[in-house]
Amino acid sequence: MCGIIGYNGKQNAIPIVINGLKNLEYRGYDSAGIAYFLGNDFKIIKEKGRISSLEEILEDDEPTLCIGHTRWATHGKPSRINSHPHQVGDITIVHNGIIENYASLKEELMKEGYKFQSETDTEVAAAVIDSLYKKTKDKLLTLEKLNEVLKGSYALLILFKDEKDTIYALREGSPLIVASNETGNFVASDIPAILEYTKNYYLLEHGEIAIIKKDKVTFIKDKKEITKELLTFKFDISSAKKEGYPHYMLKEIHEQPEVIKNFIEHYLTNFNLIPDISKYEKIHIVACGSAYHAGLIGSFLIEEYGNMEVSTYVASEYRYKKNFLNEKTLVILISQSGETADTIASLRLAKEQKATTIGIVNVVGSTIAREVDEVIYINAGCEIAVATTKAYTLQVLTFSLIAYKLGLKKGIITKEKQKEIEEGYKLLPSEISKVLKVDYKKYAARIATKKNVFFIGRLIDYCICEEGSLKLKEISYIHSETYPAGELKHGTISLIEKNTPVIAVITDSKIAEKTISNIKEVKARGAYTLVVKRKDIPLHEDTFDDLIEVEGLSDLVLSIVTIIPLQMLAYEVANILGYDIDKPRNLAKSVTVE
Ligand code: GLU
Repeated sequence: MCGIIGYNGKQNAIPIVINGLKNLEYRGYDSAGIAYFLGNDFKIIKEKGRISSLEEILEDDEPTLCIGHTRWATHGKPSRINSHPHQVGDITIVHNGIIENYASLKEELMKEGYKFQSETDTEVAAAVIDSLYKKTKDKLLTLEKLNEVLKGSYALLILFKDEKDTIYALREGSPLIVASNETGNFVASDIPAILEYTKNYYLLEHGEIAIIKKDKVTFIKDKKEITKELLTFKFDISSAKKEGYPHYMLKEIHEQPEVIKNFIEHYLTNFNLIPDISKYEKIHIVACGSAYHAGLIGSFLIEEYGNMEVSTYVASEYRYKKNFLNEKTLVILISQSGETADTIASLRLAKEQKATTIGIVNVVGSTIAREVDEVIYINAGCEIAVATTKAYTLQVLTFSLIAYKLGLKKGIITKEKQKEIEEGYKLLPSEISKVLKVDYKKYAARIATKKNVFFIGRLIDYCICEEGSLKLKEISYIHSETYPAGELKHGTISLIEKNTPVIAVITDSKIAEKTISNIKEVKARGAYTLVVKRKDIPLHEDTFDDLIEVEGLSDLVLSIVTIIPLQMLAYEVANILGYDIDKPRNLAKSVTVE
């Protein structure tokens, strides 16, 4: 959530910071601002709305040090006053995250005489720093103390008025990276902000302070200078560029054959990197949003192919419920960013209760990747569009390989079946390319004018529907609900009227007949039915208005091929409606708050 970038070097810092903020736009935001030194004081320019609104009010200064921020409001509405940077006394900061104890801190600070302009928790953090610094007169001591005083998650860039050539940075929860090139030094909340300048970066850890000067970065931990490992972002810069596509989402949908091919080649040749989960008595999968849907499919695949019971939970629920974990439990956590706050909290809870943890993560070195017992990287490259596509399919594919390995280990998958499955993996990229060639615009046109859409399916098809429905509502703002096909008549069928779109998914031949009956029920009540089905499942043409067919040699890959038409449909509907597809309102890419 939100974007942070700071630059300290030889060049004009304002265009670098603005450019960095633009490259972080995908994270979701509602206002933007920058701060630098001018004469003896701070200069703060900030505005509600898009970065382009901020650009309109920029001045002609050319500072070589500047910090910038895009805010995703948590405390106080989006407004200029609530935007970052925030100055209190001799301190100016930008902040990503939430200060949970801000209310009690604010009360104490008001007693000290501090007055607040904004409704934000961030302004309170700035006042805490100002107050501590006035008392200690020591910056490092102040920042160390700050880690004790602030509760919650935060990535902070701090400017001190009496040290105009330095940016201080620290974090808890929310990520920060530090990087350098021949012109100067950068600090940012994510890699795309700096990728045009360098691929090498340091990951700042909790408890560390980065002191960023024009020509030098120093890392401090426990009052001592430390050396840190320099990491390299291994994907091409093109993975963070649109490359001719009108939207990142469309580009990322079309990248799927390629990233899936690479993933399969990598993990089938290094099959030891796929964990053997046969020794656990209980398996929990925990995630949020689309990753949760990938987990739902994961549980079906593991149960079906590995004959093992699996439960999938929403992380924001899991962390507060009784989970009966012990040494024989495996908890699999899924997060594209590896920074999802509720998933991190669930991970820590699972560890406390002695469960083994596996993370399915995209961002290398992220909090979840570092804290789990074992990490599987999905290697999706940068995913910029807020609505996930390629990261989701790679998460499902990871479960597919886990289930496959378990089925082999337990002798459930026969030699013959093994051949078919491996062939299925090989053909998967081309099956996806095939469905990408379909013209989805004509189906989208029938949906774009509607207020409500229903998705129906049974078992694994229901889980695919959940993800398809989420994609549609995330970016088109059309209300959409998913139902297990058999449930519709227990209430919701009353909402079906003439031309209400009902999108049905049928890939599981065992229950195809049942779903087909449910499609007939809604069609009889006037629904517009769009069926996405496996090619070899027979379906009479009276049953549907429109039909999209998918193929895949095994059920271990079919759910991946089947989501592609639903991703494309969501995209085309949002495109017809003219929405900001890559940055849907109110949403953020990496949800670092609870
Ligand atoms: N909690 C802070 C605010 O509402 C920071 C939000 C963010 O991460 O952008 O201003």
